Amino acid sequence: MQTQACQALDRAHHLHPFTDFKALGEEGSRVITHARGVYIHDSDGHRILDGMAGLWCVNLGYGRRELVEAATAQLEQLPYYNTFFKTTHPPVARLAEKLCDLAPSHINHVFFTGSGSEANDTVLRMVRRYWSLEGKPEKQWIIGRENGYHGSTVAGMSLGGMAPMHDQGGPCVPGITHIRQPYWFGEGRLGEGHDPSPEAFGRACAEALEAKILELGEDKVAAFIAEPVQGAGGAIMPPASYWPAVKAVLARYDILLVADEVICGFGRLGEWFGSQHFDLEPDLMPIAKGLSSGYLPIGGVLVGDRVAETLIEEGGEFFHGFTYSGHPTCAAVALKNLELLEAEGIVERVREDLGPYLAERWSELGEHPIVGEARSLGLMGALELVADKATGERFDKSLAAGSLCRDICFATGLVMRSVGDTMIIAPPLVITRDEIDELVHLARQALDETARRLA
Ligand code: PLP
Repeated sequence: MQTQACQALDRAHHLHPFTDFKALGEEGSRVITHARGVYIHDSDGHRILDGMAGLWCVNLGYGRRELVEAATAQLEQLPYYNTFFKTTHPPVARLAEKLCDLAPSHINHVFFTGSGSEANDTVLRMVRRYWSLEGKPEKQWIIGRENGYHGSTVAGMSLGGMAPMHDQGGPCVPGITHIRQPYWFGEGRLGEGHDPSPEAFGRACAEALEAKILELGEDKVAAFIAEPVQGAGGAIMPPASYWPAVKAVLARYDILLVADEVICGFGRLGEWFGSQHFDLEPDLMPIAKGLSSGYLPIGGVLVGDRVAETLIEEGGEFFHGFTYSGHPTCAAVALKNLELLEAEGIVERVREDLGPYLAERWSELGEHPIVGEARSLGLMGALELVADKATGERFDKSLAAGSLCRDICFATGLVMRSVGDTMIIAPPLVITRDEIDELVHLARQALDETARRLA
Protein backbone atom coordinates (compact mmCIF):
# COMPACT_ATOMS: atom_id res chain seq x y z
CA MET A 1 0.00 0.00 0.00
CA GLN A 2 1.30 3.45 -0.90
CA THR A 3 2.18 5.86 1.89
CA GLN A 4 -0.58 8.32 1.08
CA ALA A 5 -3.29 5.68 0.75
CA CYS A 6 -2.38 4.24 4.13
CA GLN A 7 -2.26 7.69 5.71
CA ALA A 8 -5.68 8.53 4.26
CA LEU A 9 -7.30 5.44 5.81
CA ASP A 10 -5.56 6.17 9.06
CA ARG A 11 -6.65 9.79 9.06
CA ALA A 12 -10.25 8.84 8.35
CA HIS A 13 -10.69 6.14 10.98
CA HIS A 14 -7.85 5.65 13.40
CA LEU A 15 -7.63 7.36 16.79
CA HIS A 16 -4.05 6.85 17.98
CA PRO A 17 -2.97 6.42 21.61
CA PHE A 18 -1.26 9.38 23.33
CA THR A 19 -1.81 11.52 20.24
CA ASP A 20 -3.40 14.85 19.39
CA PHE A 21 -5.94 13.40 16.93
CA LYS A 22 -6.41 16.60 14.99
CA ALA A 23 -2.73 17.47 14.68
CA LEU A 24 -1.92 13.95 13.48
CA GLY A 25 -4.73 14.17 10.92
CA GLU A 26 -3.10 17.27 9.50
CA GLU A 27 0.47 15.95 9.53
CA GLY A 28 -0.16 12.31 8.58
CA SER A 29 1.40 9.29 10.26
CA ARG A 30 4.71 7.73 9.39
CA VAL A 31 3.98 4.31 7.92
CA ILE A 32 6.21 1.53 9.27
CA THR A 33 6.19 -1.50 7.03
CA HIS A 34 8.81 -3.97 8.25
CA ALA A 35 11.70 -4.43 10.65
CA ARG A 36 14.85 -6.52 11.15
CA GLY A 37 17.30 -6.63 14.03
CA VAL A 38 17.43 -3.11 15.51
CA TYR A 39 16.09 -1.34 12.42
CA ILE A 40 12.56 -0.41 11.37
CA HIS A 41 11.70 0.55 7.77
CA ASP A 42 9.07 2.99 6.56
CA SER A 43 6.97 3.03 3.41
CA ASP A 44 9.19 5.69 1.85
CA GLY A 45 12.22 3.40 1.99
CA HIS A 46 13.93 4.86 5.06
CA ARG A 47 15.81 2.60 7.45
CA ILE A 48 15.63 3.87 11.03
CA LEU A 49 17.61 2.64 14.04
CA ASP A 50 14.97 1.90 16.66
CA GLY A 51 16.57 3.43 19.72
CA MET A 52 13.40 2.72 21.74
CA ALA A 53 12.88 -0.99 20.96
CA GLY A 54 9.34 -0.10 19.88
CA LEU A 55 7.88 1.00 23.20
CA TRP A 56 10.71 -0.36 25.38
CA CYS A 57 9.69 -3.89 24.50
CA VAL A 58 11.44 -5.50 21.51
CA ASN A 59 14.27 -6.79 23.69
CA LEU A 60 15.20 -9.61 21.33
CA GLY A 61 15.10 -7.37 18.26
CA TYR A 62 12.91 -7.70 15.18
CA GLY A 63 12.52 -10.60 12.80
CA ARG A 64 13.21 -13.60 15.04
CA ARG A 65 11.95 -16.67 13.16
CA GLU A 66 11.92 -18.77 16.32
CA LEU A 67 9.17 -16.58 17.77
CA VAL A 68 7.17 -16.77 14.55
CA GLU A 69 7.51 -20.54 14.58
CA ALA A 70 6.50 -20.78 18.25
CA ALA A 71 3.38 -18.73 17.50
CA THR A 72 2.53 -20.71 14.37
CA ALA A 73 2.91 -24.08 16.08
CA GLN A 74 0.76 -22.99 19.01
CA LEU A 75 -1.91 -21.45 16.74
CA GLU A 76 -2.20 -24.82 15.02
CA GLN A 77 -2.22 -26.81 18.25
CA LEU A 78 -4.47 -24.66 20.45
CA PRO A 79 -4.88 -21.04 19.37
CA TYR A 80 -6.94 -20.07 22.36
CA TYR A 81 -8.30 -21.42 25.53
CA ASN A 82 -8.88 -19.63 28.79
CA THR A 83 -7.38 -20.30 32.19
CA PHE A 84 -10.58 -19.59 34.14
CA PHE A 85 -12.52 -22.24 36.02
CA LYS A 86 -9.75 -24.76 36.66
CA THR A 87 -8.39 -25.16 33.12
CA THR A 88 -4.83 -24.77 31.92
CA HIS A 89 -2.62 -25.74 28.99
CA PRO A 90 1.07 -26.64 28.54
CA PRO A 91 2.45 -23.29 27.30
CA VAL A 92 1.07 -21.28 30.22
CA ALA A 93 2.13 -23.86 32.80
CA ARG A 94 5.65 -23.94 31.35
CA LEU A 95 5.84 -20.16 31.17
CA ALA A 96 4.75 -19.84 34.81
CA GLU A 97 7.50 -22.24 35.84
CA LYS A 98 10.13 -20.44 33.75
CA LEU A 99 9.23 -17.03 35.14
CA CYS A 100 9.38 -18.24 38.73
CA ASP A 101 12.73 -19.83 37.95
CA LEU A 102 14.13 -16.53 36.72
CA ALA A 103 12.56 -14.38 39.46
CA PRO A 104 14.14 -13.86 42.90
CA SER A 105 13.74 -16.99 45.05
CA HIS A 106 10.91 -15.65 47.24
CA ILE A 107 8.68 -15.36 44.13
CA ASN A 108 6.97 -18.59 43.12
CA HIS A 109 3.65 -17.59 41.56
CA VAL A 110 2.40 -15.55 38.64
CA PHE A 111 -1.01 -14.18 37.61
CA PHE A 112 -1.25 -13.54 33.86
CA THR A 113 -2.78 -10.53 32.13
CA GLY A 114 -2.83 -9.13 28.62
CA SER A 115 -0.76 -6.00 29.31
CA GLY A 116 1.19 -3.99 31.85
CA SER A 117 -1.83 -1.83 32.64
CA GLU A 118 -3.92 -4.89 33.43
CA ALA A 119 -1.04 -6.14 35.56
CA ASN A 120 -1.26 -2.99 37.64
CA ASP A 121 -5.04 -3.27 37.91
CA THR A 122 -4.34 -6.73 39.27
CA VAL A 123 -1.80 -5.30 41.72
CA LEU A 124 -4.40 -2.93 43.12
CA ARG A 125 -6.89 -5.75 43.61
CA MET A 126 -4.32 -8.10 45.14
CA VAL A 127 -2.81 -5.59 47.54
CA ARG A 128 -6.15 -4.59 49.04
CA ARG A 129 -7.39 -8.16 49.11
CA TYR A 130 -4.20 -9.24 50.88
CA TRP A 131 -4.55 -6.74 53.72
CA SER A 132 -8.22 -7.46 54.10
CA LEU A 133 -7.46 -11.19 54.44
CA GLU A 134 -4.75 -10.34 56.95
CA GLY A 135 -7.45 -8.70 59.08
CA LYS A 136 -6.20 -5.18 58.34
CA PRO A 137 -8.76 -3.80 55.88
CA GLU A 138 -7.88 -0.27 56.98
CA LYS A 139 -4.54 -0.67 55.17
CA GLN A 140 -5.89 0.75 51.91
CA TRP A 141 -3.62 3.57 50.78
CA ILE A 142 -1.20 2.97 47.96
CA ILE A 143 1.63 5.44 47.52
CA GLY A 144 3.08 5.98 44.05
CA ARG A 145 5.37 8.67 42.68
CA GLU A 146 4.84 11.86 40.77
CA ASN A 147 5.65 11.29 37.12
CA GLY A 148 5.65 7.50 37.59
CA TYR A 149 3.94 5.50 34.84
CA HIS A 150 1.95 2.36 35.55
CA GLY A 151 -0.37 2.18 32.56
CA SER A 152 -3.38 3.73 30.97
CA THR A 153 -6.38 1.92 32.44
CA VAL A 154 -8.14 3.84 35.20
CA ALA A 155 -6.24 1.95 37.91
CA GLY A 156 -2.97 2.18 35.99
CA MET A 157 -3.20 5.92 35.48
CA SER A 158 -4.29 6.42 39.11
CA LEU A 159 -1.28 4.50 40.41
CA GLY A 160 0.89 6.49 38.03
CA GLY A 161 1.67 10.09 38.77
CA MET A 162 1.27 11.70 35.36
CA ALA A 163 -0.63 14.92 35.97
CA PRO A 164 -1.91 15.35 32.37
CA MET A 165 -3.47 11.88 32.57
CA HIS A 166 -5.13 12.65 35.91
CA ASP A 167 -6.53 15.85 34.45
CA GLN A 168 -8.41 13.95 31.74
CA GLY A 169 -11.25 11.56 32.51
CA GLY A 170 -10.88 11.68 36.29
CA PRO A 171 -11.64 11.23 39.10
CA CYS A 172 -8.87 8.74 39.81
CA VAL A 173 -9.31 5.60 41.92
CA PRO A 174 -9.58 6.74 45.56
CA GLY A 175 -6.95 5.80 48.13
CA ILE A 176 -3.92 6.45 45.93
CA THR A 177 -1.48 9.28 46.49
CA HIS A 178 1.96 10.26 45.23
CA ILE A 179 5.29 11.48 46.55
CA ARG A 180 8.20 13.20 44.85
CA GLN A 181 10.32 11.34 42.32
CA PRO A 182 14.07 10.80 42.82
CA TYR A 183 14.87 12.97 39.80
CA TRP A 184 18.14 14.55 40.76
CA PHE A 185 18.80 16.53 37.56
CA GLY A 186 15.25 17.84 37.39
CA GLU A 187 14.70 18.64 41.05
CA GLY A 188 17.49 17.57 43.40
CA ARG A 189 20.49 19.49 42.11
CA LEU A 190 18.62 22.77 42.56
CA GLY A 191 18.94 22.33 46.31
CA GLU A 192 15.85 24.19 47.50
CA GLY A 193 17.34 24.74 50.92
CA HIS A 194 18.87 21.30 51.27
CA ASP A 195 22.12 19.60 50.40
CA PRO A 196 22.06 19.33 46.57
CA SER A 197 24.25 16.21 46.37
CA PRO A 198 22.58 13.19 44.70
CA GLU A 199 23.03 11.08 47.83
CA ALA A 200 21.40 13.62 50.13
CA PHE A 201 18.60 14.07 47.62
CA GLY A 202 18.02 10.30 47.44
CA ARG A 203 17.62 10.22 51.20
CA ALA A 204 15.33 13.26 51.12
CA CYS A 205 13.04 11.44 48.68
CA ALA A 206 12.87 8.43 51.02
CA GLU A 207 12.09 10.82 53.89
CA ALA A 208 9.20 12.14 51.78
CA LEU A 209 7.86 8.59 51.72
CA GLU A 210 8.04 8.35 55.50
CA ALA A 211 6.42 11.76 55.91
CA LYS A 212 3.55 10.68 53.64
CA ILE A 213 3.07 7.45 55.58
CA LEU A 214 2.85 9.38 58.86
CA GLU A 215 0.46 11.89 57.29
CA LEU A 216 -1.89 9.12 56.06
CA GLY A 217 -1.55 7.14 59.28
CA GLU A 218 1.06 4.43 59.68
CA ASP A 219 -1.58 1.68 59.91
CA LYS A 220 -3.37 2.81 56.79
CA VAL A 221 -0.76 2.31 54.09
CA ALA A 222 -0.92 -0.91 52.08
CA ALA A 223 1.84 -0.58 49.49
CA PHE A 224 4.39 1.58 47.74
CA ILE A 225 4.58 1.20 43.94
CA ALA A 226 7.56 2.32 41.89
CA GLU A 227 9.59 1.39 38.85
CA PRO A 228 13.18 0.45 39.79
CA VAL A 229 14.19 3.09 37.23
CA GLN A 230 11.41 5.43 36.12
CA GLY A 231 11.08 4.84 32.37
CA ALA A 232 8.36 6.90 30.72
CA GLY A 233 8.94 9.68 33.27
CA GLY A 234 12.37 10.27 31.73
CA ALA A 235 14.74 7.33 32.36
CA ILE A 236 15.28 8.53 35.90
CA MET A 237 17.99 6.54 37.65
CA PRO A 238 17.72 7.13 41.38
CA PRO A 239 20.74 8.18 43.45
CA ALA A 240 22.47 5.19 45.10
CA SER A 241 21.12 6.21 48.51
CA TYR A 242 17.48 6.06 47.39
CA TRP A 243 16.46 2.41 47.33
CA PRO A 244 18.24 1.34 50.55
CA ALA A 245 16.54 4.22 52.40
CA VAL A 246 13.14 3.41 50.86
CA LYS A 247 13.50 -0.26 51.78
CA ALA A 248 14.20 0.71 55.39
CA VAL A 249 11.10 2.92 55.55
CA LEU A 250 8.85 0.21 54.09
CA ALA A 251 10.18 -2.37 56.55
CA ARG A 252 9.62 0.01 59.48
CA TYR A 253 5.90 0.32 58.73
CA ASP A 254 5.26 -3.13 57.24
CA ILE A 255 4.27 -1.82 53.82
CA LEU A 256 4.33 -3.97 50.68
CA LEU A 257 6.73 -3.08 47.87
CA VAL A 258 5.43 -3.28 44.31
CA ALA A 259 8.32 -3.01 41.83
CA ASP A 260 6.87 -2.29 38.39
CA GLU A 261 9.17 -4.29 36.12
CA VAL A 262 7.25 -3.65 32.91
CA ILE A 263 10.23 -1.75 31.45
CA CYS A 264 13.11 -2.78 33.72
CA GLY A 265 12.37 -6.51 33.50
CA PHE A 266 13.91 -9.01 31.08
CA GLY A 267 17.39 -7.63 30.80
CA ARG A 268 17.01 -3.90 30.29
CA LEU A 269 19.28 -3.05 33.25
CA GLY A 270 21.57 -6.06 32.83
CA GLU A 271 19.67 -8.35 35.22
CA TRP A 272 16.55 -10.38 34.60
CA PHE A 273 14.70 -7.87 36.76
CA GLY A 274 15.58 -4.30 37.68
CA SER A 275 14.87 -5.23 41.32
CA GLN A 276 17.92 -7.48 41.27
CA HIS A 277 20.13 -4.59 40.22
CA PHE A 278 18.94 -2.53 43.20
CA ASP A 279 18.80 -5.48 45.61
CA LEU A 280 15.04 -5.14 46.17
CA GLU A 281 12.78 -7.90 47.43
CA PRO A 282 9.43 -6.83 46.06
CA ASP A 283 6.20 -8.46 47.19
CA LEU A 284 4.71 -7.99 43.72
CA MET A 285 6.30 -7.40 40.33
CA PRO A 286 4.07 -6.38 37.40
CA ILE A 287 5.63 -7.47 34.10
CA ALA A 288 4.84 -7.14 30.35
CA LYS A 289 6.66 -5.72 27.29
CA GLY A 290 10.02 -7.60 27.19
CA LEU A 291 8.25 -10.75 28.43
CA SER A 292 7.38 -11.50 24.81
CA SER A 293 9.73 -8.90 23.26
CA GLY A 294 6.47 -7.27 22.20
CA TYR A 295 5.77 -9.93 19.54
CA LEU A 296 2.40 -10.70 21.15
CA PRO A 297 0.62 -8.93 24.00
CA ILE A 298 1.10 -10.53 27.40
CA GLY A 299 1.68 -9.31 30.95
CA GLY A 300 1.38 -10.56 34.47
CA VAL A 301 2.10 -10.07 38.14
CA LEU A 302 4.85 -12.06 39.82
CA VAL A 303 3.63 -12.66 43.36
CA GLY A 304 5.98 -13.14 46.31
CA ASP A 305 5.38 -15.92 48.84
CA ARG A 306 4.07 -13.63 51.55
CA VAL A 307 1.15 -12.39 49.46
CA ALA A 308 0.65 -15.63 47.51
CA GLU A 309 0.33 -17.76 50.64
CA THR A 310 -2.41 -15.56 52.07
CA LEU A 311 -4.31 -15.30 48.78
CA ILE A 312 -4.09 -19.07 48.27
CA GLU A 313 -4.69 -20.27 51.82
CA GLU A 314 -7.21 -17.70 53.01
CA GLY A 315 -8.64 -16.08 49.91
CA GLY A 316 -11.22 -18.41 48.40
CA GLU A 317 -12.13 -17.40 44.86
CA PHE A 318 -10.33 -14.33 43.54
CA PHE A 319 -12.97 -12.55 41.46
CA HIS A 320 -10.58 -11.16 38.89
CA GLY A 321 -9.16 -12.17 35.50
CA PHE A 322 -9.12 -11.44 31.80
CA THR A 323 -10.22 -13.38 28.74
CA TYR A 324 -6.61 -13.35 27.59
CA SER A 325 -5.00 -14.20 30.96
CA GLY A 326 -2.42 -16.81 30.01
CA HIS A 327 -3.35 -16.83 26.31
CA PRO A 328 -1.68 -19.97 24.92
CA THR A 329 -0.17 -18.42 21.81
CA CYS A 330 1.15 -15.39 23.71
CA ALA A 331 2.48 -17.73 26.39
CA ALA A 332 4.25 -19.93 23.83
CA VAL A 333 5.93 -16.89 22.29
CA ALA A 334 6.89 -15.47 25.70
CA LEU A 335 8.40 -18.80 26.72
CA LYS A 336 10.45 -19.04 23.53
CA ASN A 337 11.54 -15.42 24.00
CA LEU A 338 12.79 -16.14 27.53
CA GLU A 339 14.55 -19.29 26.33
CA LEU A 340 16.34 -17.32 23.60
CA LEU A 341 17.33 -14.49 25.94
CA GLU A 342 18.78 -17.12 28.25
CA ALA A 343 20.43 -19.37 25.64
CA GLU A 344 22.09 -16.41 23.92
CA GLY A 345 23.35 -14.92 27.19
CA ILE A 346 21.74 -11.60 26.31
CA VAL A 347 21.12 -10.43 29.87
CA GLU A 348 24.76 -11.10 30.83
CA ARG A 349 25.93 -9.36 27.67
CA VAL A 350 23.98 -6.24 28.61
CA ARG A 351 25.48 -6.32 32.10
CA GLU A 352 29.06 -7.09 31.19
CA ASP A 353 29.60 -5.66 27.74
CA LEU A 354 26.88 -3.59 26.07
CA GLY A 355 25.77 -1.62 29.14
CA PRO A 356 29.32 -0.50 30.04
CA TYR A 357 30.05 0.22 26.37
CA LEU A 358 26.91 2.33 25.99
CA ALA A 359 27.79 4.15 29.24
CA GLU A 360 31.22 5.02 27.82
CA ARG A 361 29.96 6.20 24.44
CA TRP A 362 26.81 7.89 25.80
CA SER A 363 28.77 9.90 28.35
CA GLU A 364 30.65 11.52 25.45
CA LEU A 365 27.38 13.22 24.54
CA GLY A 366 27.45 14.84 27.98
CA GLU A 367 30.17 17.13 26.53
CA HIS A 368 27.78 18.55 23.95
CA PRO A 369 26.98 22.28 24.44
CA ILE A 370 23.22 21.68 24.80
CA VAL A 371 23.45 18.60 27.07
CA GLY A 372 23.33 19.21 30.82
CA GLU A 373 23.57 15.55 31.81
CA ALA A 374 24.06 12.23 30.01
CA ARG A 375 23.18 9.18 32.10
CA SER A 376 22.65 5.51 31.39
CA LEU A 377 22.18 2.19 33.11
CA GLY A 378 22.20 -1.09 31.23
CA LEU A 379 20.64 -0.31 27.87
CA MET A 380 18.63 2.69 28.97
CA GLY A 381 19.92 6.22 28.56
CA ALA A 382 18.85 9.84 28.85
CA LEU A 383 20.16 13.24 27.81
CA GLU A 384 18.99 16.43 29.50
CA LEU A 385 18.78 19.28 26.99
CA VAL A 386 19.74 22.69 28.40
CA ALA A 387 20.09 26.23 27.08
CA ASP A 388 22.95 27.02 29.44
CA LYS A 389 25.42 24.26 30.14
CA ALA A 390 27.06 26.07 33.06
CA THR A 391 23.86 26.66 35.05
CA GLY A 392 21.73 23.84 33.63
CA GLU A 393 19.02 26.35 32.71
CA ARG A 394 16.40 24.80 30.41
CA PHE A 395 15.30 26.06 27.02
CA ASP A 396 12.17 28.19 26.98
CA LYS A 397 9.22 25.78 26.94
CA SER A 398 7.77 27.45 23.83
CA LEU A 399 10.80 26.25 21.84
CA ALA A 400 9.84 22.60 22.49
CA ALA A 401 13.50 21.62 22.21
CA GLY A 402 12.87 17.96 23.02
CA SER A 403 10.21 17.51 20.32
CA LEU A 404 12.43 19.32 17.84
CA CYS A 405 15.36 17.01 18.61
CA ARG A 406 13.11 13.94 18.41
CA ASP A 407 11.78 14.98 14.99
CA ILE A 408 15.29 15.65 13.70
CA CYS A 409 16.34 12.22 14.93
CA PHE A 410 13.47 10.49 13.19
CA ALA A 411 14.15 12.34 9.94
CA THR A 412 17.82 11.36 10.04
CA GLY A 413 17.34 7.70 10.94
CA LEU A 414 17.08 7.29 14.72
CA VAL A 415 14.13 6.79 17.05
CA MET A 416 14.93 8.72 20.22
CA ARG A 417 12.00 9.63 22.45
CA SER A 418 11.49 12.98 24.16
CA VAL A 419 9.91 13.53 27.57
CA GLY A 420 9.80 17.31 27.75
CA ASP A 421 13.44 18.21 27.13
CA THR A 422 14.80 14.84 28.23
CA MET A 423 15.85 12.60 25.34
CA ILE A 424 15.62 8.87 25.96
CA ILE A 425 16.93 5.68 24.42
CA ALA A 426 16.25 2.01 25.24
CA PRO A 427 17.36 0.02 22.17
CA PRO A 428 16.82 -3.71 21.58
CA LEU A 429 19.14 -5.75 23.80
CA VAL A 430 20.63 -7.45 20.73
CA ILE A 431 22.22 -4.21 19.54
CA THR A 432 25.91 -4.60 18.66
CA ARG A 433 28.80 -2.32 19.59
CA ASP A 434 28.89 -1.03 16.00
CA GLU A 435 25.20 -0.22 16.17
CA ILE A 436 25.75 1.59 19.47
CA ASP A 437 28.42 3.65 17.68
CA GLU A 438 25.89 4.45 14.96
CA LEU A 439 23.25 5.37 17.53
CA VAL A 440 25.63 7.75 19.32
CA HIS A 441 26.72 9.25 15.99
CA LEU A 442 23.10 9.88 14.92
CA ALA A 443 22.22 11.32 18.33
CA ARG A 444 25.19 13.70 18.16
CA GLN A 445 24.19 14.85 14.68
CA ALA A 446 20.67 15.52 15.92
CA LEU A 447 22.00 17.48 18.91
CA ASP A 448 24.14 19.60 16.57
CA GLU A 449 21.16 20.31 14.33
CA THR A 450 18.90 21.06 17.31
CA ALA A 451 21.49 23.48 18.68
CA ARG A 452 21.81 25.15 15.29
CA ARG A 453 18.08 25.65 14.94
CA LEU A 454 17.66 26.97 18.47
CA ALA A 455 20.61 29.38 18.23
N1 PLP B 1 4.18 0.00 33.76
C1 PLP B 1 5.23 0.60 33.19
C2 PLP B 1 6.45 0.86 34.01
C3 PLP B 1 5.19 0.98 31.85
O1 PLP B 1 6.22 1.61 31.29
C4 PLP B 1 4.02 0.68 31.11
C5 PLP B 1 3.95 1.05 29.68
O2 PLP B 1 4.74 1.80 29.17
C6 PLP B 1 2.95 0.06 31.75
C7 PLP B 1 3.07 -0.29 33.07
C8 PLP B 1 1.70 -0.24 31.00
O3 PLP B 1 1.90 -1.29 30.14
P1 PLP B 1 0.88 -1.50 28.89
O4 PLP B 1 1.11 -0.36 27.95
O5 PLP B 1 1.30 -2.84 28.36
O6 PLP B 1 -0.48 -1.53 29.44
